[in-house]
Amino acid sequence: MAMKTYFSKPKPEERTEPVCCPVCGQSKTRPHWQLDGYAFARCIGCSHIYQNPRPRPTDLAKRYDEDYKQYEVENAENFFNLMRLGLADLGFDEIEASLPADRRFIDIGCATGVLVRHMADRAWESVGVEPCEGSADYGRRQRGADIRTGILETAAFPDAHFDLIHSSHVIEHIPEPGAFVDEIRRVLKPGGWCVTVTPSVAGLQARLLGKHWRSAIADHVHLFSPPGLQRLFADRGLQPVRLKTWGGIAKGLAPSPIKTVVDRLAKRCGFGDVMALLVRG
Ligand SMILES: [Zn+2]
Repeated sequence: MAMKTYFSKPKPEERTEPVCCPVCGQSKTRPHWQLDGYAFARCIGCSHIYQNPRPRPTDLAKRYDEDYKQYEVENAENFFNLMRLGLADLGFDEIEASLPADRRFIDIGCATGVLVRHMADRAWESVGVEPCEGSADYGRRQRGADIRTGILETAAFPDAHFDLIHSSHVIEHIPEPGAFVDEIRRVLKPGGWCVTVTPSVAGLQARLLGKHWRSAIADHVHLFSPPGLQRLFADRGLQPVRLKTWGGIAKGLAPSPIKTVVDRLAKRCGFGDVMALLVRG
């Protein structure tokens, strides 16, 4: 069985609350996957998969503690390489070349700030926001990255401020992704770009493994499909430009020549395990 992604276990004192679907606004759901201490439901309106009821935002925030920081520090290089591949596939070079010299970048949920540092080195005005205090502090001290502790919604950036907004493996953790996208739209320049990377619940791995899928974890309060993610942004005035998916089958689940073929097919056909959406303001 494939290993699940790192996650914190729901604490016994956590409480849940009923919520509406961020994609279509419907409040009715059907049970989807029941796991140990948490459950995913399927929206009867648009089939979005999410935790409903879900833990309260204040309880979720407490999960990003010292253990979480350790996980981010240990995986920083690996995550950075994946982010660079994703950005390249979405046409980052052309986007960068089209922008003026005083371009601004933000990485939301920047962890220890590797990408923030990388963009600063490419002559972008580059900033990150990160709710995990330990990770943010590490990035400031070890990398000299400009990282604000907290979340986008409380960082209070000016209107129409950024040319490129990036978040990788963040939106599935956010209790109210609709409000999050509204804030992205506010701080994005008109004509600016936003890249969102998140697991795809419509991918081959999720379909094969069901609730044992590595991304069906307690910290993921939303599991998006490509149409759901695109609708979330489009309904808030951010136009989908390109969507790519990667990863056909988990390491160890198939012999390596088969994995290579499935990975290639998954990418071509859009049923990869992780998706990246490029939208424009
Ligand atoms: Zn819905």
